[in-house]
Amino acid sequence: MSQETIFDKIINKEIPAEIVHEDELCLAFKDISPQAPTHVLLIPKERIATLCDLKDEHKELMGHLMIKSTEIAQKLGLHENGYRLVANCKDDGCQSVNHIHFHILGGRAMTWPPG
Ligand code: 5GP
Repeated sequence: MSQETIFDKIINKEIPAEIVHEDELCLAFKDISPQAPTHVLLIPKERIATLCDLKDEHKELMGHLMIKSTEIAQKLGLHENGYRLVANCKDDGCQSVNHIHFHILGGRAMTWPPG
């Protein structure tokens, strides 16, 4: 199993976070260092380190996360203008917390391509 991270502490409510969604499989909370007017992190409660660690057995969980990201974006008022859903992976992807997470970013026009 992968190593515990700060996100386990947030899941276990050992450190505070502004939670915007929680169910049995996932948790969404505001990023501590927002890069857009709306910046939420969506994480599975199961500890999976990186996108590279996903396996067939995670199919249902990942589908759940995708559908929840859509619902959360709607709840946060991002459906009219759109938003960005980002998952960084390992060093070249600029992943800093080794627990899979999706950034939901919105509230301003994004640029493309990313740096
Ligand atoms: P990554 O760089 O791995 O794609 O994204 C990790 C994100 O976690 C960063 O945007 C960072 O600001 C956020 N983050 C790191 N520690 C904490 C924390 O303790 N609380 C919250 N809410 N976000 C955190």
